[in-house]
Amino acid sequence: MSTALVWFKRDLRLRDHAPLAAAAQHGAAAGLFVIEPAWLASPECDPQHVATTLQCLAELRAGLAARDLPLLVRVGDVPAVFDELRRTVAFSHLLSHEETGTGWSYDRDRAVAAWCHARGVVWHEWPQTGVVRRLRSRSGWAAQWARRMDAPEVAQPVGYAGAAFDPLELHALPTLHSLGLPASRPLPPAGEAAAWRTLHSFLAGRGRDYRRALSSPITAPDGCSRLSAHLAFGSLSMRSVHQATEAAIAATPDRQLAYGLRGFASRLRWHCHFMQKLEDEPAIEHRNFARSCDGVRGGGRDRLREVLPDTPPEQERLEAWCAGRTGYPMVDACMRHLCATGWLNFRMRAMLVSFAAYHLWLDWRAPGLFLARQFLDFEPGIHWSQMQMQSGTTGINTLRIYSPARQAAEHDPTGAFVRRWVPELGTPAYPQPIVDERRALAFAKETLYGLRRTPEARAEADAVQQQHGSRKAGLPPSGTARRRTRTASTQGELF
Ligand SMILES: Cc1cc2nc3c(=O)[nH]c(=O)nc-3n(C[C@H](O)[C@H](O)[C@H](O)COP(=O)(O)OP(=O)(O)OC[C@H]3O[C@@H](n4cnc5c(N)ncnc54)[C@H](O)[C@@H]3O)c2cc1C
Repeated sequence: MSTALVWFKRDLRLRDHAPLAAAAQHGAAAGLFVIEPAWLASPECDPQHVATTLQCLAELRAGLAARDLPLLVRVGDVPAVFDELRRTVAFSHLLSHEETGTGWSYDRDRAVAAWCHARGVVWHEWPQTGVVRRLRSRSGWAAQWARRMDAPEVAQPVGYAGAAFDPLELHALPTLHSLGLPASRPLPPAGEAAAWRTLHSFLAGRGRDYRRALSSPITAPDGCSRLSAHLAFGSLSMRSVHQATEAAIAATPDRQLAYGLRGFASRLRWHCHFMQKLEDEPAIEHRNFARSCDGVRGGGRDRLREVLPDTPPEQERLEAWCAGRTGYPMVDACMRHLCATGWLNFRMRAMLVSFAAYHLWLDWRAPGLFLARQFLDFEPGIHWSQMQMQSGTTGINTLRIYSPARQAAEHDPTGAFVRRWVPELGTPAYPQPIVDERRALAFAKETLYGLRRTPEARAEADAVQQQHGSRKAGLPPSGTARRRTRTASTQGELF
């Protein structure tokens, strides 16, 4: 008799779950989630991520129990946990979704593959997004995304032949305290039911003003879908979101709602487009897409201070940025809002990174780790690609340098947002601007545009575009055609 172990990772749901469906074909089955020390110790992990996972697991365990499938939750390295489980139940099949994660999860997957191979356990993996493993070429990627997302959802089995686990072996779920972690910041509701409530409220009305609402940190928290964390923990699938959105667009008589939802639908592809970059080139977590940018920032040399000696040292600039005390009110307000809530809209995330990269001339890795801990929706492939894109190190994207003052004027015209998050503005308690914007940006533009003009950088950009660039209109601008039509006078414009 075959026994299947469904290994849950960032797919904490019942609906549209291929490994769960496949488990019903086996003589017996059980579910497993492993809280891995390598994850807890990784520099991107924050207690809010662990607390959300635990909330999802509590709901999932109840949902699976109602179908006679036990969900085991263990703390340890995955191969060691498997060894321990095999002493009770000799599972013959391991069923899981593919994961596009950072280095520690890649190493763990290799160890699991070796473990399965050595013990004759068959490991089946299924994709759960539009990310394609071992992709040969980006041509045709968008069509493949559409085919996957339009395919019917995987049907939910009604029940399982549960494996012979002693109920005691289920153990109570760990807590942050028992895992030795500090308390988390307050969290939004997590889990599959909360994810569907969020999606439905967006499709039924919140999405009406999506295109207008998404740019301002005041309107975006309600006007954006707020699905990113649910997608990151897998409490609903990208296919479910795509199909529910298309159905809502087709069904609504409200033309403004349909218009808003179409804008949203086109962005869903970006999720997988950016994840595909990390899947294809895992090293981008650590190093520049464009190697011609290596050493331009960081590396023990503080170039900004070489040209602007009155600027504080690099470490102080980083700390001020993390603390929301740069003396640039819109930057500080956005950072404080993010640290308090775990979420920020796209434009303001981009502005924070642009400020770190161009105004403060910081290498993207340390700011990226800090932001990864703040974002409840941390998704490695999107995050590291975006960190590099907004820092100007992909070699192919337009350099977008955001002006904090302009963002404030356009997206917080009454100053309400800044006053809420920076109440000490206008008093001696608020710091002076940490850097002279005009001189810092002149240095940044001269350095980066100078670099981009070299024949080596141009040749490299073509290679990056070939491997990672979008082939489809509607995705963020990248590529040689766009790059070559830009004139010197439009380069470096402030956004
Ligand atoms: C520096 C930086 C880091 C980021 N890190 C992350 C991250 O770790 N995790 C993450 O999910 N998003 C990240 N984003 C992208 C984007 O900001 C968030 O997806 C979005 O703000 C999430 O809110 P929402 O679900 O309400 O988005 P909505 O606007 O409602 O969009 C719906 C979904 O579409 C996808 N999407 C929308 N915009 C983008 C985009 N520009 N790139 C990729 N996918 C997109 C996401 O899956 C999102 O949940 C980052 C952006 C920047 C500039």
